[in-house]
Amino acid sequence: MTIDRTTLRWNGWGPVKQENPLPADAPQWAWIEEALGVSRLPSTPAVALHDIRLPHSRLSEDVLGKLRGICGDNQVRTDDYERAFHARGKSYHDLLYLRAGKLDMAPDAVVYPRSADEVLAIVKLCAEEDIALIPFGGGSSVVGGVNAMPKSLGGAVLTLDTTLMTRIIQIDKVSMTARIEAGIYGPHLEEQLQSHGVTLGHYPQSFPLSTLGGWIAARGAGQQSNRYGKAEKWLVSAKLATPKGFWTTEATPASAAGPNLNQLVAGSEGTLGVIVEATVKIHDLPERKDYRGYLFKTFAQGVEAARRINHAEIPVAMVRLSDAPETYFFQALSSSGSGGLKSKLQRMYLKMKGFDDAPCLMLIGHEGSKETVVWAQEQTEATCKRLGALALGTGPGKRWYHGRFNGPAVRDPMMDRGLGVETLETSTRWSNIANLHEKVVGAITDAIAANVPEQNARGIVMAHVSHSYPDGASLYFTFVFPRQLDREVEQWQAIKRAASDTIEMNGGTISHHHGVGADHVPWLGEEKGEIGMSILKATKREMDPKGVMNPGKVLG
Ligand SMILES: Cc1cc2nc3c(=O)[nH]c(=O)nc-3n(C[C@H](O)[C@H](O)[C@H](O)COP(=O)(O)OP(=O)(O)OC[C@H]3O[C@@H](n4cnc5c(N)ncnc54)[C@H](O)[C@@H]3O)c2cc1C
Repeated sequence: MTIDRTTLRWNGWGPVKQENPLPADAPQWAWIEEALGVSRLPSTPAVALHDIRLPHSRLSEDVLGKLRGICGDNQVRTDDYERAFHARGKSYHDLLYLRAGKLDMAPDAVVYPRSADEVLAIVKLCAEEDIALIPFGGGSSVVGGVNAMPKSLGGAVLTLDTTLMTRIIQIDKVSMTARIEAGIYGPHLEEQLQSHGVTLGHYPQSFPLSTLGGWIAARGAGQQSNRYGKAEKWLVSAKLATPKGFWTTEATPASAAGPNLNQLVAGSEGTLGVIVEATVKIHDLPERKDYRGYLFKTFAQGVEAARRINHAEIPVAMVRLSDAPETYFFQALSSSGSGGLKSKLQRMYLKMKGFDDAPCLMLIGHEGSKETVVWAQEQTEATCKRLGALALGTGPGKRWYHGRFNGPAVRDPMMDRGLGVETLETSTRWSNIANLHEKVVGAITDAIAANVPEQNARGIVMAHVSHSYPDGASLYFTFVFPRQLDREVEQWQAIKRAASDTIEMNGGTISHHHGVGADHVPWLGEEKGEIGMSILKATKREMDPKGVMNPGKVLG
């Protein structure tokens, strides 16, 4: 079972037919204009596919014939829709190109193999013919990871779409592992596992439209990573089709037989080979889930609560703390943009309790057995209250849980009104969270202010802490800003560079869970160091001597 690609937006996020959360007459627009300091939001619709001329395919009939011989005629696609859908991923940067109809990066063909053997034959053909091969799962990369870049100018590009490889091969309930083909989408994977009473528990916000192979390749994190772990943690073993043949990594629970090579696969982003299947850790379905909200007077108090919860080893599935601008923004967006957000009565109550106008919302989720959830919830609530938080009950938690995959649907309508909507993320030690938060917010705010279309315009810059560990946590930034329509890409580059340089200089990683792709290449060297980079480059050279696997990504 897979998703019919023509039902999905090739130049946006989600199904073609989905309710617009921000229609033209939505009251939120007036509030957004005011918050951004712009006189008027322009209409900037995307160019339709039928108005775009795609470049001629650079693949010869001979190669196309060989591909058809491997997978069958119907599995090799060269039509405009397939090429456009696979041209790029779903980052703001990608959408600037796609929406403008700039499809010079479209692959020359898209191939849909149905088995590991077919994948290996395609990988070998590309190595023989010197064709760039782009592994593509859901295509939800937000770092340029699936962009159809050639090996060198004028070179041919083939995209390998994994989404016909969707079998659950084996569920081992004794060891609590499952062997699964890599092209399976999130909902299909969980539906099947849950019919056996188990779960992987990996729910990124892109869950409906991303795949197992993409999660591993990009070292992704689900929203409940505190309980279920990041991809590199739940990965037991992977089988890859590489230019040198099949490679299956070790599968023991722990080993001292040299470095664990699964760590090379998680984060390889298609540059070493195509993951065709993986063995992953699974869990019993939680008996109970409990999500609720707490309001903190300051961001620092919320961070301290998150740290204490982690260090006390209280079992949580999720701890997510929004800073004051994010707390305000998402309430405004979901409350018709009245800007008032809370009723007068609520505001008076909060004031009485010592909260000013900029409180910070924390959502805490527990999943597990009934007893554990009840006990852990009492512990987290006590920790929050000791730090002065107001317990809001299960209402905010339930609302968040219900809409947890819906947030990205606002990006397309915002881009239709001349707005930029971008996110980036990092992680750092607890002792550096406040510093990094302040510095990155400052860098993004200043870079937007220096690159706006009209005087007095500004951005809305917000962040949350999530995915916590004993030594630190991730920080996720979202920013909305008016686009400079005559220099959209340069504007993005200026903001991205300012944020990434600031992260690099202040003890953060260039990515906690989105990966490196093409966009983060300039910052990887500083993070890994000279020797680290030479190890990565040597591995790439050894496994993919002709450099056909996903060129331009990770190592540049
Ligand atoms: C709206 C939105 C929300 C998101 N939320 C999250 C989130 O909460 N957490 C998170 O971690 N990420 C998130 N992301 C980023 C993205 O969804 C993840 O990186 C995801 O893991 C990518 O999966 P995919 O199947 O779409 O992979 P793709 O985008 O198709 O590919 C990602 C990378 O992996 C490689 N790849 C894909 N499949 C294979 C394979 N079988 N073998 C080898 N290489 C492969 C590709 O070449 C590429 O380099 C979000 C993205 C969007 C657009």
